[in-house]
Amino acid sequence: MPAARLYPIFAQLSGREVLVVGGGTVAVRKVSALLEAGAKVTVGAPAFAGELENWAKNGEISLIFGKFSEHWLDGQWLVIAATSDTAANAAVATTAQQQRIWCNVVDDAELSSFQVPAVVDRSPLVVAISSSGAAPVLARLVREKIERLLDPSLGALAALAERWRGRIRGRLADLGLRRRFLERLFQGRVADLVRCGQTGAAEAALAYELERAALASPQGSVVLVGAGPGDAGLLTLKGLRALNEADVILHDRLVSTEVLALARRDAERIEVGKEAGQHHTTQDGIHRLMLQHARAGKRVVRLKGGDPFVFGRGGEELEFLHAHGVAFEVVPGVTAALACAAYAGIPLTHRDHAQSVRFVTAHCKASVDTLDWQALAAERQTVAVYMGVAAVARVCERLVASGRAASTPVALIENGSRAQQRVVLGDLASLPQLAAAHAAQSPALLIIGEVAALASSLSWFGAEPLTSPPDAMQLPYAA
Ligand code: SAH
Repeated sequence: MPAARLYPIFAQLSGREVLVVGGGTVAVRKVSALLEAGAKVTVGAPAFAGELENWAKNGEISLIFGKFSEHWLDGQWLVIAATSDTAANAAVATTAQQQRIWCNVVDDAELSSFQVPAVVDRSPLVVAISSSGAAPVLARLVREKIERLLDPSLGALAALAERWRGRIRGRLADLGLRRRFLERLFQGRVADLVRCGQTGAAEAALAYELERAALASPQGSVVLVGAGPGDAGLLTLKGLRALNEADVILHDRLVSTEVLALARRDAERIEVGKEAGQHHTTQDGIHRLMLQHARAGKRVVRLKGGDPFVFGRGGEELEFLHAHGVAFEVVPGVTAALACAAYAGIPLTHRDHAQSVRFVTAHCKASVDTLDWQALAAERQTVAVYMGVAAVARVCERLVASGRAASTPVALIENGSRAQQRVVLGDLASLPQLAAAHAAQSPALLIIGEVAALASSLSWFGAEPLTSPPDAMQLPYAA
């Protein structure tokens, strides 16, 4: 059974009693780290390494000579068992457990009630890494990666922010303003100056920026962000940045939880779910929410599935913002047609099969009726149909009626790019029945044209394409 996850904490040990049992080199390492955290350390052992004796001589730690005894734990907040004697370590752990004192036994996750993580130290900034004891080597590799990622000057930058904390609070009482100011601080000129070791100039720049920020009036804005089709890896770097700077996120239902998980934790998330047929919040309601939050000085991210300008009503939203004088930006996303094609192994254009692509939507009968079927039925082109699950049969019939061969390949991609992706592969004649037999559901996209057949050989993601009804597929497994 996998162990429960560990709960990460950073402990305030300053002035608090901590016991280390053991007097060797491991104990020296532990004591050194504890002293840096300001702990009042007592070390108990029958013999002590030189460093420990020196610390004791300087009055930095206390020593107890002898074998471990229960009363050593009296009044301690934490204990670290660092002896080379397994039985002695176990005795410390057992006693600590009885007295409800947190105990770490060096290199023994099972006996420990807390573990000491691998750290990347940019004090006062500290990154702690743990694999909950499951894969210490992996934790070490992650530590090395982060070590390379974080500039050594981050410690000095964090210390600078600490020194200015009171003054920044005094000048920028509003939490949102303060956060934005600090975000700029940590990424802009002040950070550059700290990195160059110019602390004086960094302080002057900070003072200047702080005055400017305090005098500016808060301006809200909206960023229209395309979240892509589901796989969080398809979010753009710009989209990610917007999500990390957001105060409020208004997102569609189609946006995957993986993408939402990348957003700033404290951002207020509001689902304005809209799916074919189910309108949770009206378009007017969405407009009102954007305006209300932007006018309150918030940074709003309007997060939409796929790309905001492809069947996403992004245009209407921007027109509304423009009319109300709200500043906006647009960050494109990977639209469903591109993602579904890629994740199903269907090149949308191909020199042998298709020279053009059309994106159409078929979300209701009226929209199906207004499409130019003659043009859509033309040869040597690929048609990607959005919101087409309910209209599969109608779309396929119309194309055949307008002259496209009934044997034209069609792929239906459900939940494209997500773990549960399914691809149903057939032709204009067979696909409606096949899709119904597999109970295809939204979100799904149709790709119509010769290129769709390539999915049977180029498919690389998730399960193989489904080319026959479910019953036939289950036959070999029947009892
Ligand atoms: N702006 C979006 C489209 C919104 S319309 C974009 O650019 O992708 C909603 C339709 O998009 C769904 O009905 C479906 O046809 C399609 N869609 C969105 N995400 C999808 C996915 N992960 N897999 C398959 N189709 C998807």
